[in-house]
Formats: sequence, structure tokens, C-alpha cells
Amino acid sequence: MKLEDLSCRRRVALLLDYLDRALPPAESRVLARHRRSCRSCAELLASLERTVRVLRALKRRSKAPDSARKALRAALTRASRP
Ligand SMILES: [Zn+2]
Repeated sequence: MKLEDLSCRRRVALLLDYLDRALPPAESRVLARHRRSCRSCAELLASLERTVRVLRALKRRSKAPDSARKALRAALTRASRP
């Protein structure tokens, strides 16, 4: 898998799975390595991590709105559409 070959949309989906720890270990390693060498992905991941952290904090306080997560994913997908 080469991240550079993926569309932004696919890449965002992949980064979200990475943050969810939903990626197979091999892909996770590729992403972790890519993150260190690619500034735009590193910045995107950092901002996704902040967002996920906020969502998790909210989740602890109240019943998790799964819809919020879906909405975030949809918004990110829209935002990264060329
Ligand atoms: Zn990148």
C-alpha cells in the first residue's frame, strides 16, 4: 500500500481507521511511518486526533452520539473531495 497513490478521500478514511485502531497492523505501520515523513498527513492526523479526543471526552460524560461521529466522517469526506 502506498499512501501517495491514494486519493485524499480514501486517505482520510484510512487515517480515521488508524485513529480508531481499526487498521491491520501492517497498514498501521505504513501510516505511522508515512506520518513521520509527510507534513500534510501529520498535520491532518494531529487535528483528527484533537477532534477524536474531544469526542471521546464528550462520550465519557454523556451517551455517545454515534451520529456525531458519522457526521464528522461525512464532513471530512466532503472537505477532502477535490
Ligand atoms: Zn501524506
